[in-house]
Amino acid sequence: TTGVETFEFQVEARQLLQLMIHSIYSNKDVFLRELISNASDALDRLRLESLRDESLQADTSDLHIAIEIDQESRTLTVRDNGIGMSHDGVVELIGTIANSGTAKFLKELRESKDAAASADLIGQFGVGFYSSFMVADEVTLVTRHAGESQGTRWVSSGAGTYTIEPVDDAPQGTSVTMRLKPEDTEDHLYDYASPWKIREIVKQHSDFITWPIRMAPAQPPATAEDEAEEGEEKAPELETVNSMKALWARPKGEVTDEEYHEFYKHISHDWADPLETIRMQAEGTFEYQSLLFIPARAPQDLYMQDRKRGVQLYVKRVFIMDDCEALMPEYLRFIKGVVDAADLSLNVSRETLQQDRQIQLMRRRLVKKVLSTVKDIMSSDAERYATFWKEFGRVLKEGLLGDLENREAILEVCSFASTHDAEQPTTLRGYVERMKDGQEHIYYMTGESRSIVESSPHMEAFRDKGFEVLLLTDPIDELWVDAVPEFDGKQLRSIAKGQVDLDSQDEKDEEAEAEREQRQKDFAELLSWMTTTLSEQVKEVRLSSRLTTSPACIVGDTFDVTPALENIYRSMGQ
Ligand code: ADP
Ligand code: MG
Repeated sequence: TTGVETFEFQVEARQLLQLMIHSIYSNKDVFLRELISNASDALDRLRLESLRDESLQADTSDLHIAIEIDQESRTLTVRDNGIGMSHDGVVELIGTIANSGTAKFLKELRESKDAAASADLIGQFGVGFYSSFMVADEVTLVTRHAGESQGTRWVSSGAGTYTIEPVDDAPQGTSVTMRLKPEDTEDHLYDYASPWKIREIVKQHSDFITWPIRMAPAQPPATAEDEAEEGEEKAPELETVNSMKALWARPKGEVTDEEYHEFYKHISHDWADPLETIRMQAEGTFEYQSLLFIPARAPQDLYMQDRKRGVQLYVKRVFIMDDCEALMPEYLRFIKGVVDAADLSLNVSRETLQQDRQIQLMRRRLVKKVLSTVKDIMSSDAERYATFWKEFGRVLKEGLLGDLENREAILEVCSFASTHDAEQPTTLRGYVERMKDGQEHIYYMTGESRSIVESSPHMEAFRDKGFEVLLLTDPIDELWVDAVPEFDGKQLRSIAKGQVDLDSQDEKDEEAEAEREQRQKDFAELLSWMTTTLSEQVKEVRLSSRLTTSPACIVGDTFDVTPALENIYRSMGQ
């Protein structure tokens, strides 16, 4: 074994640490939740691996988390006997920030330098382990990967560098020891060397962790009498502080909103409460329980290439995998949660899951449940629905392209800007209810922004007629409008494409028809001259009845690619 190696933190990691050290976040208690969460993950992973790999040389006889406080030296330790990390794992996982959302956020932060905004934003990221630097001026992590003999010690004060050295007698699993900051002694609220305080935090934030979290019983402060007996001190019996109940398996009415919210934070790495909690329990031929959440805001990586998707999969309380894609479609990638199935093999892999009939059935049910929940929010709480739509509407609309089975349900919960109201978006249902007599179709126009669309010459005749037009300005709108033919029996029609017939059939009399033909003849020469002259730019020049004040406008063929769609294709390199 060799000696101590010193490493520099990656730029992003260093920056995050600076934010932690200068304690941007007002509720420092959450550092403990993060460490317990990591310990719990490590125990889950060890159990799973030992179930799958019998040759793994690991001790799984008493998997647990222990919290130790040394008031004299003011250190706090969170210990687990889980999977642990190898030397390279420590360098890779603790020294760098792999999460691209966090990295992107930090890059923006470096450029903006707005400290106040960063304080609020930081909670959005899975900063996990680093949050220990909110309360500690030095952190020591000792770890040994299950099945390996060599352990590793990692030490840092959070200022630019960390050291790593091999340890020969490290126990299996990981311990994180924090040397608590001295200033915390003054403020009783923040005394993390107090066993009462620590217990309270565990109860509040980590009660549902399914592994035992053990602590020495809280002792009254030492008295002069105790000091005299110090010679015969013996280690006190440890007690389990948390109730260890899996929330999704408990009866609905028994669990409080706070408990659900803490659980959400545990699995999502979000520090804010979720927008909605969704419970499902299915009995019968195949049993499963699920506890899903709609976050209150979109994660940073929602549109990134390597974004995460899917919920956690358990089989009879045994953790199987994170980000189980097979259970959630892409357009619901923002949903977090847990699905616990009773009749699956512990050996399922991501590949076999995609083909599994039970999983497919579960997914169908989950998707329907999520969509019906959104619909409930929509009809019961306009403000919460508005938040949902602002954060996730664009993603949800992706579902209009692929999910034929739920297209109607998705359309029901969509809302769009419209000429009807300058501020409030409308639902399609609302639009249909306002349709005028003689109006047959749902009219829309796509474009880059509301103001561009509204000032388009295509709009004139519709405004004149008093027909409402949906103003679709998300890039995704260009795609789904082509895929979705109708809503509630009404066709969706672009006002910028093809021949839009503004007068319904019976209003048109033959006189008008004759007049149009006459005008067509009168202008035939001019039109053909213009068509030839502009042949590089346009296919055809024709008379129009759709304009009222503008002299001319450019119209796409019904099946043409619109300018905005051209932009999308171009940006995708096509
Ligand atoms: P996250 O939990 O979001 O991945 P963290 O900063 O909390 O981020 O942890 C980073 C990584 O370090 C974890 O993904 C895990 O691989 C590793 N790690 C942290 N704590 C432990 C632990 N107690 N046991 C094993 N691995 C751990
Ligand atoms: Mg973590």
